[in-house]
Amino acid sequence: MDFATLQEKIRQTYGPSFDHGLIERAYAFAKESHEGQMRKSGEEFISHPLAVAALLVERKLDAPTIAAAILHDVAEDSPYTPKDVQDRFGPEVAFLVAGVTKLKGVRYPEFAPSARTDGRTENLRKMMLAFAEDIRVILIKLMDRLHNMETISFLKPDAQKRIAHETLEMYAPLANRLGMGELKGQLEDLAFPVAYPNEYRELKSRATETLEARLAFVARLIPTIRELLERAAVPILDIHARAKHWYSLWKKLERYEGNVDRVYDLIAVRIIVDSVEHCYGALGAIHGAWPPLPGRIKDFIALP
Ligand code: MN
Repeated sequence: MDFATLQEKIRQTYGPSFDHGLIERAYAFAKESHEGQMRKSGEEFISHPLAVAALLVERKLDAPTIAAAILHDVAEDSPYTPKDVQDRFGPEVAFLVAGVTKLKGVRYPEFAPSARTDGRTENLRKMMLAFAEDIRVILIKLMDRLHNMETISFLKPDAQKRIAHETLEMYAPLANRLGMGELKGQLEDLAFPVAYPNEYRELKSRATETLEARLAFVARLIPTIRELLERAAVPILDIHARAKHWYSLWKKLERYEGNVDRVYDLIAVRIIVDSVEHCYGALGAIHGAWPPLPGRIKDFIALP
């Protein structure tokens, strides 16, 4: 990621009221303080904070968050101190940068599968949320992790393993907790092959065709559903489909002795409507076309 590309993204995403000057100053400062530093990938270091900022632009975060993302590694990897950031960018940006820096101290216990079950990771996740004070800090941290996972192949194998496990046990559940299901799936699918290479290969060799065929199927399904609901006079606010991500499929198969036929949510369609009445209307229309499986229906409106 270079600055011109990021700026273009910002222009396309935000109106003129966005503080472009702040972003330019953050870039100038970060570029200078990371001067000469390289990523393990051989790219200039500045490409990393810019990529993290771009991921946050895609999610329409505010200008102080984008600036803080550009600055998020400054305090750690350069001669500048948090006070330098505060003097130049004010308390809000400095607070966000300091928050991200503080979270670097929260580390997943070195390769400890037992931490999955003994509650230690749950405590770490809670600690992160409490530490952060501001949800924007967590969002910067999650995008930082997403970009680091995308470029993980350049690290040494033992570092790769530690970071992949940490992503599966801490960051993906955190994303899920915040309602970011797509990000959770992305993080897990980047970490899964690194953390469990044999299991990943095994699963892919078994399930590739099925999954791709199902994705194609669900893509054809959406127009049909739109038509059905139109006829039932149910207005759709949003409709989208997903295929189950690799890691969550593997976790589920572990519970079902590897039997794919017992996994009922390899694909899912989510329909958003504006009222309870339309929700039941949609369900009725869908069941009219595809009869439900007895015992598989959950009504979280009647039984929250
Ligand atoms: Mn970083």
